[in-house]
Amino acid sequence: MDSHNTAGTHRAGRPAAVPAPSRNTLTDTFDRPLRDLRISVTDRCNFRCTYCMPKEVFGKDFQFLERAQLLSFGEIHRLVRLFRDHGVEKIRITGGEPLVRRKLERLVEMLAYWDDLDLTLTTNGSLLKQKARDLRSAGLKRITVSLDSLDDPVFKAMNDVDFPVEKVLEGIEEAAAAGFAPIKVNMVVKRGVNEHSVAPMARFFKDRGHILRFIEFMDVGATNGWKMEYVVPSRELVQIINRELPIEPLHPNYRGEVAERWRYKDGTGEVGFISSVTQAFCRDCTRARLSAEGQLYTCLFATRGTDFRVPLRSGASDDEVSQLIAKVWTARGDRYSEIRTAETAKLRKVEMSYIGG
Ligand code: SAM
Repeated sequence: MDSHNTAGTHRAGRPAAVPAPSRNTLTDTFDRPLRDLRISVTDRCNFRCTYCMPKEVFGKDFQFLERAQLLSFGEIHRLVRLFRDHGVEKIRITGGEPLVRRKLERLVEMLAYWDDLDLTLTTNGSLLKQKARDLRSAGLKRITVSLDSLDDPVFKAMNDVDFPVEKVLEGIEEAAAAGFAPIKVNMVVKRGVNEHSVAPMARFFKDRGHILRFIEFMDVGATNGWKMEYVVPSRELVQIINRELPIEPLHPNYRGEVAERWRYKDGTGEVGFISSVTQAFCRDCTRARLSAEGQLYTCLFATRGTDFRVPLRSGASDDEVSQLIAKVWTARGDRYSEIRTAETAKLRKVEMSYIGG
């Protein structure tokens, strides 16, 4: 153990129960209900963000999943139906880059069948200009776009495929025109790489009605060379912004909200801070993650998942699949971010591009 265990300084401790369940809620060993399911629809991405899918690892020879290994839309739909029965209220479609999966609008349409489902998607925005309207008319409710800088050379160096900022901004504009509002914009901040982009990003998105959220660089996966010294703590980011654009804290929308919300004192909107490293929020974590090939994970920092594809493809009944979901969730005791150390950071955790962000 070492001094890198900065996790949990604020909200840490033994995870406590989150609010009262509505449907047939499952709770884990810390009384946390299952509320959200993040579904990765592909492990492929057209970016090679240095902190997520570094080129040296995810190069030409990297073995991505074959098409037949991916869960079909029908299989995903069936799982969502069963997860809903266990109390899941929110679905986030992610990846890899979800918009590289062919005919994704079709999956959105299938999942939009459930009106009360909070159906959302996270994208790098590169294909959003072409797809925003179709996604909206298919029934997607909300969208989050990742963008790490407005400074073209910095952004290009981070996505490592020479992708320009302008095209992501066009995608965001098109999504707004298609009716998505507010759009959330996620920025990962890495020390020495893009912290000087923090204030310009805040300034830019502040008056446009979009909600910018800053994410601390995390030790997800095992290939991104994470070190504590690269993390810019949210507390520092608050100061950077506050110096120029005064902000004050807001109450969370609901307990378990990932981002801490702050608003501009001039009333022009809000920003969020996702502090998975310096202010762990495991105690409120209600999320499960399904990989593109049907492995279920109960923590972003997991080393192992549970296979659902084999049961799905070998004739398991709804009851059997449902019981498997219950078995996994009720056994869950994950609280990785609260016990993070430099040692745990070296574990062979599953990659974020595979498990879904
Ligand atoms: N391709 C989509 C995108 O770019 O939004 C979805 C998948 S991506 C893995 C989801 C989010 O995870 C992105 O906002 C990305 O910046 C973030 N992310 C990836 N690696 C990260 C890391 N090491 N620390 C913090 N955030 C990370």
